[in-house]
Amino acid sequence: MSENSFYRDYDVPQDLQFKTADILRMGGLDCTAQLSPKYFEDVFAAPNKITQVSVKLSFSVATNEILARGVISGEREVQCARCLQTARQNFAEEFLETYSNKSEIIDIMLLVRQTLALTEEIRFLCKPDCKGLCPQCGKDLNAAPCGCKPVNLSPFAELKGKFK
Ligand SMILES: [Zn+2]
Ligand SMILES: [Zn+2]
Repeated sequence: MSENSFYRDYDVPQDLQFKTADILRMGGLDCTAQLSPKYFEDVFAAPNKITQVSVKLSFSVATNEILARGVISGEREVQCARCLQTARQNFAEEFLETYSNKSEIIDIMLLVRQTLALTEEIRFLCKPDCKGLCPQCGKDLNAAPCGCKPVNLSPFAELKGKFK
């Protein structure tokens, strides 16, 4: 945000559907909003989820278009792909988009959802060397070794036993 940012007393719509006419009339708009996580429930694949979202937005009016730039920040819960523990993470993502000043509505919600969707880690690990769960007893091996005998995963292991 620029030095001379001004925060107007503007009631930011929770669904982030801004009326283009409002922004043109005000000659731009700077605003912030805390958003309900319910708008973002389906952005990540369960059990990963976004638990807190706030946006800082700045609209500036150019000749034929409106420039929207901002920062989305908040908190998310993500599950480790190996040990299945859930970790909380803070995030902050910047975005920048231009809209025609002829469109009736500027849909910032769509932009925010798309930006957040791109941040999902498909195979998140709680730490790079996470030991994961024991395939036999299901114990979290990061806490302590479980004492199970290692399984021979070779497809010939079973046959070897049969033809002794
Ligand atoms: Zn883990
Ligand atoms: Zn075990």
